[in-house]
Amino acid sequence: MKTSRQTRLVHTDYAAPEGFAAFPSAIHHASTVLFENVAAMRAASWKTKDGYTYGLHGTPTTFTLEARLADIEGGRYCLLAPSGLAAIVMVDFALLKTGDDVLLPENVYNPSREMARWLQQDFGISCRFYDPMIGAGITELIQPNTKLIWTESPGSVTMEVPDLPAICAAAKARGVLVALDNTWAAGLALNGFDMGCDIVMQALTKYQSGGSDVLMGAVITRDPALNERIGLAHMRLGMGVSGDDAFLVMRGLPTLKMRFEAHDASARKVASWLKARPEVAAILHPAFEDCPGHAHWQRDFTGAGGLFSFVFDARYTQEQTDRFVDALTLFGLGYSWGGAHSLVMPYPAKAMRANWPHEGQLVRLHIGLEDPDDLIADMTQALGKLA
Ligand SMILES: *Cc1c(COP(=O)(O)O)cnc(C)c1O
Repeated sequence: MKTSRQTRLVHTDYAAPEGFAAFPSAIHHASTVLFENVAAMRAASWKTKDGYTYGLHGTPTTFTLEARLADIEGGRYCLLAPSGLAAIVMVDFALLKTGDDVLLPENVYNPSREMARWLQQDFGISCRFYDPMIGAGITELIQPNTKLIWTESPGSVTMEVPDLPAICAAAKARGVLVALDNTWAAGLALNGFDMGCDIVMQALTKYQSGGSDVLMGAVITRDPALNERIGLAHMRLGMGVSGDDAFLVMRGLPTLKMRFEAHDASARKVASWLKARPEVAAILHPAFEDCPGHAHWQRDFTGAGGLFSFVFDARYTQEQTDRFVDALTLFGLGYSWGGAHSLVMPYPAKAMRANWPHEGQLVRLHIGLEDPDDLIADMTQALGKLA
């Protein structure tokens, strides 16, 4: 049909030749997804991933990333969310309803605690917090209406490593689902499903991206019925991610393990150095003995990555340790982690969990991909600013 220039600006008959092949997955952009004909449109379901219905529910780009992430974690299904926190919220809304009860560790990722408090205040879902070192003792906290136990290994600020197999066994015996925030281990150094978890959540914002340039989360499961429940929440909450963002995450995957191991080696070097410093009272790094749950880390993990915390000797005031943080030049002061750049963040640990054993100021470090000797030199000059 002959059409005007304006219509040709919108419609084109050109189709690129078939047979193009390259390593990267194509970046598909779509809100509208086109159907071949009415019958195909009527037959399509957003629930299955063998076809396409609408950009929000998946494109070849996002399906490919989901499949790759499920594979990395040893799961079968994966749902992408626009941030790690959105992935947490999706699990909460999928599995909890008014009258239910959810258990979270005291050291839980703080926005997840915020979400749980909101569920309690406005949605009639009770939320209770447990000592992350509770292990099998969690049995005593499980009520008939307890539907979900969140775990995090280790806690991403205070670094306690829970006895995950014990928590999962206790939960399983009472028919309660366990979700693991597996962000610290990047899905590489800890296998949540082997530990007995039902749901594994990742903030892909961290190591999988590795670029400090994208926000995304994932929820991974093995059980088809559970995937369907969470998939319903995924659809109802409008959880979609852009092809461009999915591409950015996918681009990080081939180097994920090498980066993680490089972060790990440098972080252990920096932590060992810090441990010998007279200004430091404790190293909260799961591979170090000071860290609660160190034995669980040894048993369950194959590595550690770049994130750990340390506690200053109690003789230093917050004003002094803030001066240390401000004096660092190679460490950015900012939230998040998993990228090439080292980061530092002081945290009020005492406010984060009951029976906190330390008096001194807590500082969390993400050790990036800089030369660790340069990081140590930077910290040496910054420690000089304490006095
Ligand atoms: C960063 C983080 C999240 C949330 O990820 P965002 O993409 O920043 O929302 C969740 N859990 C842990 C442990 C994290 O570190």
